[in-house]
Amino acid sequence: MKPLLLIIAYLFAVTLPLILSWLTGAPPRPFHQELASGLGILAFSMVLMEFVLSGRFKGISKDVGMDVTMRFHQVMARTALGFALLHPFLYQGTPSGGQRPWDPTRQLTITTDFSALSTGIAAYLLLPSLVLLAIGRTQLDYKYETWRLMHGIGALLIALLLLHHTVYAGRYGSQPVMTWIWLTMTGVAVGSLLHVYLLAPVLDKAHAWRVTSVTRLTPKQWEVTVKPDGHRGLDYNAGQFVWLNVGHSSFSMKENPFSICSAPGGGPEISFMIKELGDFTRTIGQIDSDAVAYLDGPYGNLSVDDRTEPGVALIAGGVGLAPLLGILREMRLANDPRKVRLIYGNRMDDQIAYRDELGTQDVVYVLSEPPENWHGETGFIDAALIDRVFSPKEFSEWVFVMCGPAIMMDTVENHLIERGTPSHCILSERFDYD
Ligand SMILES: Cc1cc2nc3c(=O)[nH]c(=O)nc-3n(C[C@H](O)[C@H](O)[C@H](O)COP(=O)(O)OP(=O)(O)OC[C@H]3O[C@@H](n4cnc5c(N)ncnc54)[C@H](O)[C@@H]3O)c2cc1C
Repeated sequence: MKPLLLIIAYLFAVTLPLILSWLTGAPPRPFHQELASGLGILAFSMVLMEFVLSGRFKGISKDVGMDVTMRFHQVMARTALGFALLHPFLYQGTPSGGQRPWDPTRQLTITTDFSALSTGIAAYLLLPSLVLLAIGRTQLDYKYETWRLMHGIGALLIALLLLHHTVYAGRYGSQPVMTWIWLTMTGVAVGSLLHVYLLAPVLDKAHAWRVTSVTRLTPKQWEVTVKPDGHRGLDYNAGQFVWLNVGHSSFSMKENPFSICSAPGGGPEISFMIKELGDFTRTIGQIDSDAVAYLDGPYGNLSVDDRTEPGVALIAGGVGLAPLLGILREMRLANDPRKVRLIYGNRMDDQIAYRDELGTQDVVYVLSEPPENWHGETGFIDAALIDRVFSPKEFSEWVFVMCGPAIMMDTVENHLIERGTPSHCILSERFDYD
C-alpha cells in the first residue's frame, strides 16, 4: 500500500462512524450540540485507530516507516485529546433530562443516566493522563517496559470506557447499526493490541534464533549475530529492522528495535550493531553465546531495493550506520551497478566501526573531535559538508538515505530540499520516535 492510500484508509476509518451517525438521521438539534456529538464521535474513532497505528503492521511500516507512523500516532493522540476535552462543554445550554446533582445548572450534559456518564468521565480523566505520561515519559523515572505496559493497559481501559459511554450516553451510539460499528471498531483495536502481545510472540516462538557471536566493535558499540534455529531465517530487505528479544520468553516485553546491519544476500545469519545506551544495551557484553533470541519483523521502509535512481547516498551519524551498512553490504555483494557514497560521522576516532570493511573508496569519514593526525573531514555533517561531497546533478538525481541523531537528519534533510532533491528521494529512519 502506498502512503496516500494509507492516509485515505485512515481518514475513511476515522470518519466512518461520524458519517454513519449523520446518515441515521436523528431529529435536528442546534449546531453546537451536533458539533459536541461529532467531536466525541471523532475522538473515539481516533482513539481506536491509535491501536492500529501502533499495531506493528508490516504493510504500514514498509510503506510509511515506523517512525513516521509513531509520530502520526502521537499527533493524532493529541488531536483526539483536544476533541474529547471540548466535547462535553459544547453541550452547554441543553436543559434536557432531570435533576443532575453534579451539574445543577444543566449546562454540561444532556443525559441524566450517571452510569452512562461515569464511564465518559473516567475516560475524560484518564485520556489526558495517558497522553501527558507519554509526552513526559523520558522525564519520568520509569523503565521503558513499565511505561509500555502502563500505556497499553491504560489505552485499553479508555477504549472500553468510551465504548460504554458512546453506546449508552451517545445520541447516535445507541442506534443498533452504530452500536455494531463501534463494537467492530473496538474489536479491531483490541485485535491490534493482541497482534503485538499475543499473535506475534506465538509466531516468533516457532522461529527461535541462537546468538552465534557478540563482538565489541568500539568502546561502546557491539555487534551481535544470530542464526536461525531450525528454520530458514528471515525474509528482509537491507535497511529494515526487527524487535530483538534475547534470553527471554517470546511473550516478554523485553524487546528492543534494532536495524539489521547484515545483508540479506550474505546468508541466513543476521547481525546487529548496537550502541550502549540503557538497561538492555549496556548488558550486551554479558549475552551468552548460544542464548535464545526472538526476532519480530522485518519492519521499516529504509530500502533502496526498488529504487531506480542512478546513485545512492548514505549518510550516517554514529550507530545510525547500522541500517546503511546493511544497504552498502547488499549493494557490494550484488555488484549493484548504481553509484554509492557513504558519509559516516562520529565524534571521535575510536568510535568508527567497521573501518577496515568500509575502506576509503566512496566513504567520507567525518569527526567532530578529530585527533591531530586526522586527514578526513572535520566538524559535523552539515550543509557545507553535504555541498562538498555531492554535486548539483547528484542532488537532483540520487536517492539519499540517512540515519543518525535527529539534529543531523533535520539539517541534512532541509539542505537537500533546498538543493532541489525531491522529497520522495529522501529516506530516513529515526531511532527515537517516542
Ligand atoms: C527503528 C529503530 C531502529 C533502531 N536501530 C538501532 C540499531 O541498529 N542500533 C542501536 O544501537 N540502536 C538502535 N535503535 C535504538 C534502540 O532501540 C535503543 O537504543 C534501545 O532500545 C535502548 O534500549 P535500552 O533498554 O538499552 O535503553 P532504555 O534506557 O530502556 O531505553 C532508552 C530509550 O530507547 C527506546 N526504547 C527502549 N526500548 C524500546 C522498545 N521496546 N521499543 C521502542 N523503543 C525503545 C526508548 O526511546 C527509550 O527511552 C533503534 C531504534 C529504532 C526505533
